[in-house]
Amino acid sequence: MARYIGSVCKLCRREGEKLFLKGSRCYSDKCAIERRPYPPGQHGQRRTKISDFGVQLREKQKLKRLYGIQEKPMRNLFERSMRMKGVTGENLLTQLERRFDNVVYRIGFAASRKEARQLVKHYHFTVNGKKANVPSMIIDKGDVIEVREKSRQSQKLSGALEANSIREIPAWLDVDKANFKATVTDLPKRDDITSQIEERLVVELYSK
Ligand code: SF4
Repeated sequence: MARYIGSVCKLCRREGEKLFLKGSRCYSDKCAIERRPYPPGQHGQRRTKISDFGVQLREKQKLKRLYGIQEKPMRNLFERSMRMKGVTGENLLTQLERRFDNVVYRIGFAASRKEARQLVKHYHFTVNGKKANVPSMIIDKGDVIEVREKSRQSQKLSGALEANSIREIPAWLDVDKANFKATVTDLPKRDDITSQIEERLVVELYSK
């Protein structure tokens, strides 16, 4: 399936807010959205009227770009969220938050979700003591995620927790830095997700 390989900063500028796709650069004054806070392209600074459909579409695109997932897995998650008890939009957000690649990012083992996905695919982690390399796997309460013994020597992973300590670790994760391990002590709730997302708009779009 085709993946976006252009400038990720353009995605933030298109959505009009920081999506934190580039690791430490996002926290520096080199962040593109700080320098050019308008959509990319020749007509980026033009004022345009946006329809209700356009607003819903932008919100869905923002959510996909934030978690770095494609349309099909996003729709599958939406359908699963509809079948679950509770509010569909909240279910969708908490399912995204529980993806293995996102949890690795939240722990601080990776600077961005993209890097987290790559590390997961390259078998650098175990879940409950077993090798795991599926970024879309949904993590459960009580699961223990560890960096594999031989991966602890890698420069990228050995200093990752310190390097990413600028980000706050969510309350539903208990991180043991010394042992390269984290435990999921609870399931994420809507209030734990601080990104500016109006999930209602995404549900309205997919329900059409
Ligand atoms: Fe987005 Fe990060 Fe680029 Fe800033 S530096 S525009 S937050 S990806």
